[in-house]
Amino acid sequence: MTAYKIALMPGDGIGPELTEAALKILDVVQENFNITLNMLPAEAGDAVYKRAGVALPEDSLRVIRESHACLKGPVGETAADVIVRLRLLFDLYANVRPIKAFPNVPVARSDIDMIFVRENTEDVYKGLEYSIGDDTAVCLRVITRKNCERIAKRAFETACLRSKKKKVTAIHKANVMRVTDGLFKRVCQETAKNYPDIIYNEMYVDAATMHLIRTPQDFDVLCTCNMFGDILSDEAAQLIGGLGMAPGANIGDNFALFEPIHGSAPDIAGKQIANPISMILSTKMMLDWLGERFNDSKCLNAAAAIERAVIQTLINGPTVPDLGGKASTLQMAQAIAVALKNSL
Ligand code: ATP
Repeated sequence: MTAYKIALMPGDGIGPELTEAALKILDVVQENFNITLNMLPAEAGDAVYKRAGVALPEDSLRVIRESHACLKGPVGETAADVIVRLRLLFDLYANVRPIKAFPNVPVARSDIDMIFVRENTEDVYKGLEYSIGDDTAVCLRVITRKNCERIAKRAFETACLRSKKKKVTAIHKANVMRVTDGLFKRVCQETAKNYPDIIYNEMYVDAATMHLIRTPQDFDVLCTCNMFGDILSDEAAQLIGGLGMAPGANIGDNFALFEPIHGSAPDIAGKQIANPISMILSTKMMLDWLGERFNDSKCLNAAAAIERAVIQTLINGPTVPDLGGKASTLQMAQAIAVALKNSL
């Protein structure tokens, strides 16, 4: 029996509903796959900020430090104080965001299958902003060779593991931001030389926004700096049925945190209509990561079974309104849990 400690951060808005949905799946994972997951609550976000004046309490950080991984729901207004800080504190330098068309979902094309590998700790999201007098504001864009090397390497390694296209597209604006994106581009080109079996190309970010709509099927691995990857992945999610279909992982060398790519969706919070797949596929990514890191085939098997159960439920129903059905968030999650239970 394998036991893992998982810090559980439900977050704000639809976060608690999605967390409840994900826990239904993880209950079955524990029962069917002989894996023990000790879920340790770690509060963070708007609610705790309102109550205690701090969005990411020390107690929560302690829980995370003692855990093997963290599963996190979206956070609202205090997102920058929570997720941006966690990415920096735990050096979670790679944000991995798969964008894949699933059956029976309103997608732009059924052959979309790409993955963003986005640098997660620097660029304009480093928070180095200041004012000069009342009328001028400055934001520093920090790009370092170390982080370009790490993200480029991860992008190429990711391409090696994927079965079909084996292609890395580096996305930048080096014709305008010659120094910062010039460094990113140079490092991507250098890294490409170590991977002769991977096709390497580059795209300016504005062209990439267009090609994502025009020929999304051509993309495989998209390697980006922090802000471009954030924006482009939200755009790409619309091609595969919306943000509710898009999971994510924040990965460092020693720790990883899993969360949907979307925000707290206050417009639909508490209504039980949110699509739980973003969170359920984030748990799938967590099990994949645990499986690889701890050489645990039970986690890898559970991860693969979750994806099959999601597909089965998308085909047979019930589904949430986003996907054309009438089920609640929890009902859809329960159906996925049943499909998972019956999968053995
Ligand atoms: P925040 O302020 O926390 O970033 P937001 O609403 O501005 O929240 P998102 O939460 O990313 O940004 O949501 C953007 C849109 O996508 C909203 O209309 C929201 O309802 C929708 N959305 C996000 N996640 C889901 C989901 N899991 N299921 C259905 N719709 C979703």
